[in-house]
Amino acid sequence: MSASDDGPDPATNSRPKDLLRIVWDGIERGRLFVLPDSQSWAGPPTGQQCIVCERLIRAANEHEIARPDGSVFAHPPCYAAWYHESEIRRNRLDSSP
Ligand SMILES: [Zn+2]
Repeated sequence: MSASDDGPDPATNSRPKDLLRIVWDGIERGRLFVLPDSQSWAGPPTGQQCIVCERLIRAANEHEIARPDGSVFAHPPCYAAWYHESEIRRNRLDSSP
């Protein structure tokens, strides 16, 4: 817990570390699901709420993730963090005996 890897992120106001924590917390609580694979596409924002950080998406792009019960939406950096965490969890499941 002593590493100071809090580097600046020029792309967004949200720091990736914060996003990863939000994603981790969301999956642990069942608020978010583990993304199956690259089942999403980016498009222009349609005023949706981001499922990860729960803010309205006003960025240049939004990610839409299709679900059987309807699509969910996320900011590109939120989606990136979510996808990253999901990938870790999928690999963990795959490598279990
Ligand atoms: Zn977001």
